[in-house]
Amino acid sequence: MASIAGTLDVVQIRKDFPILSRKVHQKPLVYLDNAATSQKPQVVIDALTNYYQNYNANIHRGIHSLADEATSAYESTRRAIQTWINAEKPEEIIFTRGTTEGINLIAYSFSQINLAKGDEILISGLEHHSNIVPWQMACERHGAHLKVIPINTKGELDLSGLEELISERTKMVALIYVSNALGTINPVKDITEKAHKVGAKVLLDAAQAAPHFDLDVRDLDCDFLVFSGHKILGPTGIGILYGKEAELNHLPPYQGGGEMIAEVSFEHTTYNVLPYKFEAGTPNIADTIALKAAIEYMQTIGFDAIAQHENELLSYATRQLTAIDGLRLIGTAEKKASVASFVVEGVHHQDLGILLDQDGIAIRTGHHCAQPIMSQLGLKGTCRASFAFYNTLEEIEFFIHSLRKAISMLR
Ligand code: PMP
Repeated sequence: MASIAGTLDVVQIRKDFPILSRKVHQKPLVYLDNAATSQKPQVVIDALTNYYQNYNANIHRGIHSLADEATSAYESTRRAIQTWINAEKPEEIIFTRGTTEGINLIAYSFSQINLAKGDEILISGLEHHSNIVPWQMACERHGAHLKVIPINTKGELDLSGLEELISERTKMVALIYVSNALGTINPVKDITEKAHKVGAKVLLDAAQAAPHFDLDVRDLDCDFLVFSGHKILGPTGIGILYGKEAELNHLPPYQGGGEMIAEVSFEHTTYNVLPYKFEAGTPNIADTIALKAAIEYMQTIGFDAIAQHENELLSYATRQLTAIDGLRLIGTAEKKASVASFVVEGVHHQDLGILLDQDGIAIRTGHHCAQPIMSQLGLKGTCRASFAFYNTLEEIEFFIHSLRKAISMLR
């Protein structure tokens, strides 16, 4: 029986997540679908109910006590995110519905003023659909071209042709930080530096980075960065868009409505200051407030301890998976986070997922919203087990045991 020498008290941590003690098909739940969404600790659930039970009110506009309490809780999440990701000012933190909305916002607003016929947007072959389609739409609207950094067979970016791919025509480099399908950690800081040399701006999709390590936007020097609350223990429907103040100030608003205005007349409207210019309408107050509890929880555990534990889970799972006859790991990059993607010769990934579920094990199967990766690697889909700091080696052992059993049944 393997063991982890790390500093996390996982037995204690698991008690904070009510769902982790439930059963699925009469078996203890083994949740290995963390890249899709994380589970939520009780403190996050409590923050949600506390808001609805005790101070539910619309924010910013009210002068009564409840509105005041709700506004201050909402704004304190903004400051918590600012501190966590080392943004210079709270105004640089925009609340969105999630990563997808953050990218769409930038793709729309940035392209409105910066993209013209013949210009280029550079993405990579590892992108999630949400960092492909909004840029394709923007290119179509403005007559620009989408360029793609290719990947190698290990699932790493092939940067050998980068000098030719980034040029004066490049207006934006939109890049996935950590691949959701393969776990690859990309050298985003180096690419950002190269992009800035030609005057291009950089957006980082940090949806799969935020759950695993500290983010420092000033060190990364990215112009924009997006992630989703639901992958970092927070509720669904709340996400973060970070943008450098000067960049955000330049951009036209994405949606019009209440809160994003300074003055409205039938003839002319002036817009509110940051961050409100990009937060039209009543925002997702409850989930924003609960996101702060999620971040504080992760900070209490500590990102170093999280990374260490998850790395040990990943290397143990990788060793065990590689030993299975006919199993091929997909994504074997030097630098990887918490994702083990694989295919098994002669067995359909979906059948494996269904049989594992019978043992209470949740993994994801399919193309993982990254169809271009799958077609580059000549696959229809993979099985993906993704790990969080609340997973244990015992769970991985049970997963491997169940996987071996499923494979022998299906062959
Ligand atoms: N980018 C990456 C890398 C992701 O993993 C995901 C979610 N799977 C997204 C973007 C989209 O996130 P959301 O659905 O929360 O908007």
